[in-house]
Parts: sequence; structure tokens; C-alpha cells
Amino acid sequence: MRTQIVAGNWKMNKTFQEADDLVNELVEFIETNKAAHRAMIICPPALYLELATDMARDTELYVGAQNLSQFEKGAYTGEISAPMLASMEVEYSIIGHSERRKYFGENDEMLAAKVRMALKHKIDPIFCCGELLVERESGKHLDVVKSQLDNTVFKLDPVEFGNIMIAYEPVWAIGTGKNATPAQAQEMHAYIRKLISEKFNDQIADNTTILYGGSCNAANAKELFSNPDVDGGLIGGASLIAEDFIKIFQALK
Ligand code: PEP
Repeated sequence: MRTQIVAGNWKMNKTFQEADDLVNELVEFIETNKAAHRAMIICPPALYLELATDMARDTELYVGAQNLSQFEKGAYTGEISAPMLASMEVEYSIIGHSERRKYFGENDEMLAAKVRMALKHKIDPIFCCGELLVERESGKHLDVVKSQLDNTVFKLDPVEFGNIMIAYEPVWAIGTGKNATPAQAQEMHAYIRKLISEKFNDQIADNTTILYGGSCNAANAKELFSNPDVDGGLIGGASLIAEDFIKIFQALK
């Protein structure tokens, strides 16, 4: 069975003390509720990654960044590099979140470079894709996602691609309280898996974890995750409260 995952994207939230409290609650839960084929990842703001990796060390809570630079080192003020993250024991990074695409001008070319940089330093990308509302309403959602994947992670070789996790996040569902229906999620996830199979092979497609993201919460997670091609979720708002995030974790297959 593919690993079923919930990943929490904290975005730009939490003070240091609040972050400490939340990690503490999650570590306490996960250490008493170990589950084969299920994993919990948190992606706190970069400033708290050291806190998180310290507290999560030797536990089954895993830590990811929300972003990384496409450059390896040098004169890039304010950026955080893949080798820096790797040296802090960060194992994952979200790459291509729609907020990075929208507010920070990240395009496919930059995202392809970020993916390569992450892999070079043994950081597993959680690669986000997803269409705008206007694209869904005009029936272009499948083509948009295909193009986002063709231009980035589908340029990798099969071995490299084996380290990629995909997060399908329809932009219209992120932070809006309007999640994709289970049928909409399943349609897209099955489509992405078919594309992976055509690009690489059936086995790689079968092994790839594809997360759903966009207003997933404790109330709707079970129904979303019950779809055969939905392997868990990338969770924004609902990952900020331990009780909610734990309930979402418990909704995994
Ligand atoms: C996200 O930002 O990746 C996300 C899914 O946000 P939310 O769960 O708040 O919609």
C-alpha cells in the first residue's frame, strides 16, 4: 500500500511559543499512535524548522519546509537554500504552492529548478499543482495540471521522480472553505496517476503518493481520503490546531 500522508502547511502563522506548543502536542500524539503506512509531516515557517526538527528527532513526526531557493548558495538575500535545510535535518519541502506562484512569481521554470535542487540535497518535494476557478469552469482543469507537471516533475528521470509526492490543490479551494467534492478530487487524482503511468510506468504511478489540498478539514477528510487515488492531504488552516490535524490524520485509510 502507498504511504498515506497528512502534511500541515502552517504558512505564515504561529509565534515561537505557539509553534513549540503545537509541535509538542503532535509529537505526543504520534509517539503513542504509531501506524504503519501512515505518516504525519509538518511544514512550519522556516524560522521554526530547527525547533521542529529538534523536537521531532527520533519520532515519527517528519518536518518539511514551505519553500526553498532554486539557487544553491550565494548573494540571494533572504533566501533559504536546500543545503541549509538538509543541514537542519529537514526531509521534505513544499514546492510550487499556488501562493508562491501568485504572490512571488514562481513559474514552471523556477519550480523545475527548485525540484532539482531539493533532490540534489535529498529533500523530497511535495509538489503542488492545481487549476484556477476560471480554468475549471472553462473545462481546462485537466490540461492545466498536465502542463504544470509536464514542465516540471515530468522532466525528471524515473529514479528521481520516485522521490516526488504530488499535492493536487485546486486554487479555488485553498483557504476558501469550499473543498473539491470527493468526485472532483478522485477524477483529478486518477488522471494524474494515469499521466505518471504513461510518462514513467505503472509501478511508479502506483507508488506515488498524491495528496489533496484545499479546505480539507476534520469534517470532510474521511470522505475525501476514502477515494482510491487520494492518499491523504496537504492541510493549511486545519493544521494549525493539534486536535483538528490529529483528526485529519486519523481519517487516513
Ligand atoms: C494549503 O495552503 O495548502 C491549503 C490546502 O490550505 P487550506 O487547507 O487552508 O485550504
